[in-house]
Amino acid sequence: MNLLSFDIEEWYLYRQQPERHAEFDGYLDAILNKLDERQLKATFFCVGEMGRLFPEVIKKIHQRGHEIGCHSNIHTWLNKMTETECREDTHCAVDSLEQCIGEKVKSYRAPAFSIGEKNKWAFEILAENGIERDASIFPAARDFGGFPNFGQKTPCIVEYGGTRLKEFPVCTTQVMGKEMAYSGGGYFRFFPSGFVKKQMKNSSYSMCYFHIGDLVPENASVPSRKEYEAYYKEPGTLKARYVRYLKTNLGKKNAFPKMMRLIKDMDFVNLQQAEEAINWAAAPIVTL
Ligand SMILES: [Zn+2]
Repeated sequence: MNLLSFDIEEWYLYRQQPERHAEFDGYLDAILNKLDERQLKATFFCVGEMGRLFPEVIKKIHQRGHEIGCHSNIHTWLNKMTETECREDTHCAVDSLEQCIGEKVKSYRAPAFSIGEKNKWAFEILAENGIERDASIFPAARDFGGFPNFGQKTPCIVEYGGTRLKEFPVCTTQVMGKEMAYSGGGYFRFFPSGFVKKQMKNSSYSMCYFHIGDLVPENASVPSRKEYEAYYKEPGTLKARYVRYLKTNLGKKNAFPKMMRLIKDMDFVNLQQAEEAINWAAAPIVTL
């Protein structure tokens, strides 16, 4: 089972640069047309403010039959929020998206998979807001967040306090002795297509995840200290800013056509379809 998901935030992040929106619309339309052609459905995790500021984008995705999930309200990483801030953010985001599409939102992905050991309480907040399916767990070591000891590589049930959610973790594989993701973000850009497809064919489960901004060349410069600190909320040393710049821009030149070929060659389902196909009574339970 291959899951296909997109995180939608660019229109909001570049709200001060409306001249870029036609470009994002163009990429989104190309994705939606390819999915129609292949009769595939994906989950689009959208930031809540998109529902208020760019409802036409969310409505268009929804009207084409895809699932709308939640991707926080303004793309602040959950590990940078207090519990109270996270509760407010999640409520605001889910409410905005539900108002926009007139339907319950049941799936969630934290920006940058930013739920880890230190903010597991986020799962309770998701459940309080009616979220049933989560795709925020990165089951390997990561420079922040992540669950290196998660132990499950396929859909499972996560239990925290009195809360249970159906979890669709990022899939990882062993590369030179290290567990690494391969099917989304910078990892997808880094690994050759053949490697990604081979891993997917050899696995019973894979989760592909893309941002439009991950796939298109931007020619952006290294962020200034001020820009970096405003966005990442941590000290913007020269090293930190260069590392982030390199990670963000690695392999972007051919990334969009590479992703479109993957959609052409492989079959996918969204989280909603996957949930129906899985026998949850037999799924492993992970207590966090
Ligand atoms: Zn995102």
